[in-house]
Amino acid sequence: MAIGGLNGFASTEVQNSTFVLQLKFSAKIPPIANTRPVVRHFKQTLRLTIYILTIFAATLLLGFRHFSLPVTITGHLKNSPRDTSAYTEMVLVFVKGDHKILAKSYTDNKGNFEISFTPNKEKSFDFYCTGLGIDTLLIGSVRTFESDTPEMTFYIPGQLKRNAFGKVICPICKRADKVYKIRHSDAPVSTMVISKSGDTTYSPIYKGKFQAGCLVGLARYYCDRDKVKF
Ligand SMILES: [Zn+2]
Repeated sequence: MAIGGLNGFASTEVQNSTFVLQLKFSAKIPPIANTRPVVRHFKQTLRLTIYILTIFAATLLLGFRHFSLPVTITGHLKNSPRDTSAYTEMVLVFVKGDHKILAKSYTDNKGNFEISFTPNKEKSFDFYCTGLGIDTLLIGSVRTFESDTPEMTFYIPGQLKRNAFGKVICPICKRADKVYKIRHSDAPVSTMVISKSGDTTYSPIYKGKFQAGCLVGLARYYCDRDKVKF
């Protein structure tokens, strides 16, 4: 019984393989015998390939154009209604993307400025200002621009955003876990941090607050992840 079954199985296999062989053989026969349908088929394939390649190239070109178009921002630097001590005239405004300065510009006597740069897939575009009595201050962060010529208004100090728990969030990472309130004092206190390997570093964070000298007056919070004051 078992042998018979095995024999039967083997013969089916042989039969199948001969069938496949025959198929392969017969499939190869017509192109040699008649070349016209082959040429037509080749032309069709070529046409389709060219068509697909054209679409692919167009998509690629449009995609690149989208990223390489320069952005020109018409900016306005304004005082925050809560704190009007900052100067908004002749203040240096600069944009950073992936830790690199992309462009910088000065505000005029009305706090207006124009800044232009070409985005290149940066994770975010972070706007800073620095000027008389202002330490480098983060005034805004965006991921994308609504157009190639957006109009943007920034406030100094920047408007704070809070999470659902009422904690101030960082404008760049949008998280609150590494955000510290800045304590202003005449003599900044540093915290000595000794790591397990024995390296000693000084952290400006002391008792959960970022220690700043008296000259830094506007920044109220510091994000230790992005190393920014806002
Ligand atoms: Zn952050």
